[in-house]
Amino acid sequence: MTADADIAPGKVYLVGSGPGDPDLLTVKAKRLLDEADVVLHDKLPGPDIIGMIPEEIREDVGKRARGERTSQQYTNERLAELAHEGKTVVRLKGGDSFVFGRGGEEMVYLAEHGVPFEIVPGVTAAIAGPGVAGIPVTHRDYASSVSFVTGHEDPTKEDSAVDWDALAATGGTIVVLMGVGKLPEYTRELREAGMDPSTPVALVERGTWPDQQVATGTLDTIVQARDDAGIEPPAITVIGDVARERQRVVKFLENGAEES
Ligand code: SAH
Repeated sequence: MTADADIAPGKVYLVGSGPGDPDLLTVKAKRLLDEADVVLHDKLPGPDIIGMIPEEIREDVGKRARGERTSQQYTNERLAELAHEGKTVVRLKGGDSFVFGRGGEEMVYLAEHGVPFEIVPGVTAAIAGPGVAGIPVTHRDYASSVSFVTGHEDPTKEDSAVDWDALAATGGTIVVLMGVGKLPEYTRELREAGMDPSTPVALVERGTWPDQQVATGTLDTIVQARDDAGIEPPAITVIGDVARERQRVVKFLENGAEES
């Protein structure tokens, strides 16, 4: 048997769905969704995009969809299995698969299991979420750099993988994903690292979804603003002077009236 005999006849497309508005799917993502035999997804692409996919070809592999069974390992194995059956498979991830999306792990698994694949980048919510709320993640006058970090971990842990002290010192924009729950911890961490407590902060929940919600404040007040507005995941936290720009344009923004 040659090595080629082990190559799957099907193919997996690792597709980023964008932040949730179906109009922000790429042309390629839309075409692949129309052509796919099977689409594996979780909840993050949002109800509008998931609703476009015929039910008979959808498989929800979201973390809570199948309880214990839907581990990353299950998803990896399912992708490979379908491709070995000759299927055209779309693995649909919210935003871009390579931004806190575990696309990197899936790609390597596929390569190691003889599955042809293709990366189809998506519009990441890390940029689009702030963007549609009137917040540019960089700005010539206020932000020459931007850092994308996970807020999922406990920032007070000794071995926290995110160095909040170093982030505070960059002077650039900090964009936190998965950072609704631990907002009190990391905003305190940043203040303790010397960041100005009046630094503007915005929370953008369900950016580009019909029920998008935005809350604004400062490093000192944003936790209260989160609670007053009832902000829940999925939401992006934007920390830095760029967050102030929203106030200057808010009346021209779609969803701007929902400001809290
Ligand atoms: N791969 C995704 C991110 C996955 S991590 C991307 O590139 O966008 C999950 C986190 O993404 C959520 O906790 C939230 O912080 C963020 N997120 C994803 N979609 C969002 C949206 N439409 N609005 C706000 N935040 C979103």
